[in-house]
Formats: sequence, C-alpha cells, structure tokens
Amino acid sequence: MPLIHNPNWAISSSGESISLFQSQQSLKSPLLFIGGVHGDEPEGVELAEKLINWINVSANPYELKDWALIPCINPDGYKKNQRVNGNEVDLNRNYPSKNWKPIKAGTKKRYNPGPHPGSEPEIKSLVKLIQDIQPLIIIHFHSWEPCIVVTGEPGLKFATPLSESSGYKIIPTIGYDTPGGLSQYAWHDLKIPVICIEEQEHIDLDKVWPNFKDGLIKILQKDF
Ligand SMILES: [Zn+2]
Repeated sequence: MPLIHNPNWAISSSGESISLFQSQQSLKSPLLFIGGVHGDEPEGVELAEKLINWINVSANPYELKDWALIPCINPDGYKKNQRVNGNEVDLNRNYPSKNWKPIKAGTKKRYNPGPHPGSEPEIKSLVKLIQDIQPLIIIHFHSWEPCIVVTGEPGLKFATPLSESSGYKIIPTIGYDTPGGLSQYAWHDLKIPVICIEEQEHIDLDKVWPNFKDGLIKILQKDF
C-alpha cells in the first residue's frame, strides 16, 4: 500500500508533533489537504481524518492522483479548543504573503498575525512543504457558515464536485480581508489555487464526512 505517514513531520510552537501523510515519496502535482488550521474548528480535523481513513481502507491507490494531507496543522489550538496556536497567533494570518500586515492596536486577538510574516513553526513547515511539492491545489478545512471559497479560477473545477456533494454554495471571497492568509500566499503570490471548505460550525461531526465524501473522492481520481 503506497501510503507514507510521517508522524513527526513538524513540531508546533508548544512542542506537539504534527503528522503528514502522502501518497508516495516523490509527489507529482499533488492535491494538498490541510485540517485543523483553527483549533476551535473540529469539523475540519474530522473531515481530514475521515478522508485519510477512506484512502487507507477503501481506495484503490493506483486510481488516485498524488496527494498530501495534514490532519491537524494546529495541535496546540486543537487541544485547547482555541482558534490560535500556542503563541496565540492565527495561523491563517501568518503566511509570508506580500500583503501580510502587522497587528493593529485594538485588533481582536483572534486575528493576531504574529510578530513577522511566517514567524510560526507550523507555517514555516507548511511553506517549505508547499515549495517542495508544488501542489496542484490546496484545500483547507474550516467551519463557520457553510460555503466553499475558491481563490484562483483553476480551483473552480475542483470546487464544483465539493459543492454538489455538500449542497454548499461556491463563493469567490469570504467577504472580508485576510492579509497573511493561505489564499493570499498561495494564489496571489504563487498562483496555486486554494479552496477553503467552510463546514457548518457546531454541526454533528458524524455529518461532516457524508457531506463531502463524494466530492473529495471524485477530485482525487486520476481521470478527473
Ligand atoms: Zn477557520
């Protein structure tokens, strides 16, 4: 079974191990899936874990595109059920994008971008991974109001099956600025399209995988 698991791929700001799974050692234009960016959004970790379980148990690996998957990039926050990491930084504002902005006086702590772009160990590891594997697309799993945010026109093809399986609308922007966010860094700076899945927050976790299963399986197929 060609599936590689590196349980100590990266170390969080509080010293927790971060797992990386990938389809094989040298990846060709993989899909990159990221769960648990915000520690208080367990729906995303649930979706990532169910996806890796499906790949491991039910998939024919020879029918799938290359992929890489991080079930929980923010284990510090996940353990405490808090959005930010162990340094109280919002990882989705800490990417070294051209539009990264320092925190303004009075800004809510939940959007703390960190002391400088790419300051956090979780983001440093992710940036190196993105540069190494050059993903075809990056899909990260969140929860808020249900929607599928696509940044970069090539991402629309992948978003369509996800929208069809979940019934959630595709939208081109989340509606507010996200300086230092993944969509800014990957699409605007590197031209790698990004999909942000927003599951309904506080939904019964048993419903998350059925919502996205068919769409995720479809986009993973080699012939899609
Ligand atoms: Zn989130």
